Amino acid sequence: MTDKIGEKYINTDTEELNNICDECKEEDESVTQNLILTGFKLCKSCRVSKTIFPL
Ligand SMILES: [Zn+2]
Repeated sequence: MTDKIGEKYINTDTEELNNICDECKEEDESVTQNLILTGFKLCKSCRVSKTIFPL
């Protein structure tokens, strides 16, 4: 028997760059851009609403 447990999870080291918005959980290429630019892991539309209504 070959032990291959966890093999499929090895490539998840880019978890922070998966383009999934922290706010709406939608996947968008703007998420990574915003993460780099603003430090917030948000998609385009969530970033706009955060900008218009900052807490
Ligand atoms: Zn979003």
